[in-house]
Amino acid sequence: MAGLMAMAKEQRMKMVLIVISAVLTGAAIIGQSYLFVIIVDRIFLKGNSFSEITPYLLWLIVALLARTLFSYLSGRTGIKMASKVKWNLRRSLLHKFSKNPMQASLQGQSGQKVSVMMDTVDEIDSYFSNYIPQVIQSTIIPIMLLVVIFMEHALTGIIIIFTAPFIPIFMMIIGFNTKDKAEEQLDKMAAFSGKFLDTLQGLTTLKLFGRSAEQKEAIKKSSLDFRDATMVVLKTAFSNSLALEFISMLSIGLIALEVAIRLIIFQDITFFTGFLMLVLAPEFFTKLKDLGSAFHTGRGSMGAAKKLEKELEETIVPVVFGEESLSKDAPPLIELNAVSFSYGENAFALQNIHAAIRPYEQIAIVGKTGSGKSTLLHVIAGLVSLSDGEIKINGKNRSTYREKDWFNQLSYISQDPYLFSGTIAENIAIGGHIDASRMEIEQAAEKAGLTELVGSLGQGFDTPIGEAGRGLSGGEKQRVAIARAFLKRPSIILFDEPTTGLDLQTERILQASIKELSGNSTVITVAHRLHTIKNADKILYVENGELLAAGRHNELLESELAYRNMVTVQRGGAVQ
Ligand code: ADP
Ligand code: MG
Repeated sequence: MAGLMAMAKEQRMKMVLIVISAVLTGAAIIGQSYLFVIIVDRIFLKGNSFSEITPYLLWLIVALLARTLFSYLSGRTGIKMASKVKWNLRRSLLHKFSKNPMQASLQGQSGQKVSVMMDTVDEIDSYFSNYIPQVIQSTIIPIMLLVVIFMEHALTGIIIIFTAPFIPIFMMIIGFNTKDKAEEQLDKMAAFSGKFLDTLQGLTTLKLFGRSAEQKEAIKKSSLDFRDATMVVLKTAFSNSLALEFISMLSIGLIALEVAIRLIIFQDITFFTGFLMLVLAPEFFTKLKDLGSAFHTGRGSMGAAKKLEKELEETIVPVVFGEESLSKDAPPLIELNAVSFSYGENAFALQNIHAAIRPYEQIAIVGKTGSGKSTLLHVIAGLVSLSDGEIKINGKNRSTYREKDWFNQLSYISQDPYLFSGTIAENIAIGGHIDASRMEIEQAAEKAGLTELVGSLGQGFDTPIGEAGRGLSGGEKQRVAIARAFLKRPSIILFDEPTTGLDLQTERILQASIKELSGNSTVITVAHRLHTIKNADKILYVENGELLAAGRHNELLESELAYRNMVTVQRGGAVQ
């Protein structure tokens, strides 16, 4: 596979080291065989005494040690190469996933992404730690052995030349079959991981709808599929090694027969030569057989490599940023010029939005559920890439500014802010600069109305929350997000008001906090409450992904029938 070979080429130094170790291992094997045969020959045929063969024995030990050492060196280099490649791969994947976090997380299951990141990358390991060193060894060493065999007794060499090719031919035939199977196995594995994580995350929903039993069945099926795919791969692997064993045994048998006939009937070779052939031939075939099993693991890796390549190639259009700096001192002028965005072909799309948001303005985005309000916030936030049009910041395309500077300006309080697993203090601290003091964190929490909640938690600010700890309610999470904003002091605040009716106290806290934050910033709110709507400097009224009207509440009441209908239907309460 081109991708894997290219990765291997980047590790040229390590490849050279593996080649050198292979040559030295080959030399050690040849030396060892000679010494072994010499010792046997001298003791049994020539009747040498022990002291006469002692130097040979010592050299034999040296050869054995050298062989072990060089094999170890080769293996170690392979493992190092594998870990470097895996590190590179994971880095590129992470880079890709984080390049456009929003769109990356919109596409595909997150469980599947975890599986790609962890397991699929691990599958690559054996290609470098096992396959490459083995291919190098199994090419170099057998050739070295064959040269020696030809020099000593050409007929054995000829037998080998006729029988050995069956091994690679056979391997290739089987290899082609296993490749698809290995890919299938990986797909099944990813599907299984994805299914499992999805189900785990949605367990409450599934229980409520009485669907957990069905899901159990689905997981079971998914895991059985994976097992079956694994068994098929293993079956091929086992029959593969059986066949290789058979071929090499047959060849060695032939060589033994030929040597025996020569020794006993024709008596035209020495015991030394015959015995050397019988020692070298199995070494030769062992190396070829090792290649066979390495081939099998290599195939698995190639399946994984293909999968990774696909994942890395999958296009996510990144949100473009530039190099110009953007100061945080005052809120910028934000202009949307014919902005369009689509979740994909035939999916929901925002179309041709024109709007200007001046510094310190209070903007309310209003519209029915599903009209595209939250999507518009993503677009303004710069979390997704536009399919058309441009967003200008202080008169220049946003893509000219530095990404860091832009996001530094911004706090986005979504309807369901994400809590990382960590303490509540840590969760607030990610809003601010890296070394926010405990005091600053506590002040921010107080302003966001979290003091009472934190007081009720067992370990106060050090209580673990998020995935590994206690869960928080939607309103509480938004307050954490607001505390993050107090720590950050952004100049633009994007706020997706909760649709569900909050209790009065929470509502008051949220409103007061946003009000205080708005002293230093432009606030763009997806508004559901009449209060927010009435107070807004400008309302953006969206329907079906289009901006139908913009203006103050009273103006829209008069000019837009649809707007009036929507607001009056819900009079006094929350506006959907
Ligand atoms: P609102 O906030 O106004 O209720 P949204 O902006 O959340 O609406 O969604 C607008 C439309 O986009 C909806 O029809 C929704 O189904 C669709 N949508 C939201 N997220 C995605 C997504 N990740 N992929 C495809 N469609 C989406
Ligand atoms: Mg929404």
